[in-house]
Amino acid sequence: MAVRKIRSYPDPILKTPTLRVDVIDEDIKKLVEDMFDTMYAEDGVGLAANQIGEPLRLMVIDTTPKKESPPLKLVLINPELIHAEGTIRYREGCLSFPGLTVEVERYRKVRLKALNLEGEEKEYELEGFPAIVFQHELDHLNGITFIDRVNGLKRRLALEKYYKLQRQRSRG
Ligand code: ZN
Repeated sequence: MAVRKIRSYPDPILKTPTLRVDVIDEDIKKLVEDMFDTMYAEDGVGLAANQIGEPLRLMVIDTTPKKESPPLKLVLINPELIHAEGTIRYREGCLSFPGLTVEVERYRKVRLKALNLEGEEKEYELEGFPAIVFQHELDHLNGITFIDRVNGLKRRLALEKYYKLQRQRSRG
């Protein structure tokens, strides 16, 4: 059990696509524990392994703290999107961009498959907030962050705001 340091933008690991998990061994189980510990310590609802410096296709989700969402706790190993429909816009936050929120368009409903910690392949259908969290984390695993989902001026303004926040933080 350990809270790990979260990599913040522009750490290059956030832009690097992750590798499939071949074997679900004790190291992976320990990493998943650390990911939950780290996510809860930062009041997050989703975390991708590369956000704590491990370039693996692995994410954790727990929407329980989000009152307006159904509670859902998942470990998704080698997740794949297999169906998506509809669109939804939501103002997202990201633990790798402390303080910044960006409105992003996502699929409203998704079906996905992934391995669980026991190595069993499972399918899930997610809608609304949990679907948004999944797509945000899946982007992380592909080296994409939420600012890559907005264009032009919106992206530039978001980055300017982020760097300003970072400067304020470093001044304490
Ligand atoms: Zn994020």
